[in-house]
Amino acid sequence: MEISLSRVHYPVSTLGPGRRVGIWFQGCSIRCPGCISVDTWRVKPAQTSVDQVTSLISPWLAECDGVTISGGEPFDQPLALHALLLSLSAFDKDVLVFTGYSTEQALQMMHGWDGLIDALVSGPFERHTPQTKPLRGSDNQRLTLLTARGTVRFSGYERLLRPEDRQLDLLMDADGTAWLAGIPRPGDMQVLQAWLAAEGHRATTTELSSTTP
Ligand code: SF4
Repeated sequence: MEISLSRVHYPVSTLGPGRRVGIWFQGCSIRCPGCISVDTWRVKPAQTSVDQVTSLISPWLAECDGVTISGGEPFDQPLALHALLLSLSAFDKDVLVFTGYSTEQALQMMHGWDGLIDALVSGPFERHTPQTKPLRGSDNQRLTLLTARGTVRFSGYERLLRPEDRQLDLLMDADGTAWLAGIPRPGDMQVLQAWLAAEGHRATTTELSSTTP
């Protein structure tokens, strides 16, 4: 099964409990205003297969605490997502999936996928809606616990954000490119850009409002 991904990374520590494998899908048809991942919107031809991805990340899967799937929009590639989830199920790790579709839409698309997703964060990002809960960029987004494991692992996220909640992981690619994973709070990216600019560095986000030179 072919799949189009933006990136994979390990470890990610801001998108669920523990040290997690992060898998970002490429392509998003939802296009929320204010999305900070505009680079994942464009649909690109599938460049790999689920088998290849699973093989690549299997050393990480052996030792990680869980898997987070985000995007882009994972449900825009429903067959690839299902095949990936089936592959991941062999590793017996918790699986958290982010989607911009509503809970009802996502549950409909997940018909027959029982047990493959432990927790789902659903709903579009709304830039003018407050952000007071962990794992959510805006409070309209819902956390749904779909399995007993999901309840154990994620029910603690049904609370208000705390100052100590980590927001962003700084990750390095092999080519030296640094990028951030996580759910920034409003204004975080602008603050980061200002800090870096003060040190003589240039930072860009993929948010539409800040990508225009
Ligand atoms: S926030 Fe998620 S669903 Fe919304 S446009 Fe960005 S990638 Fe797509």
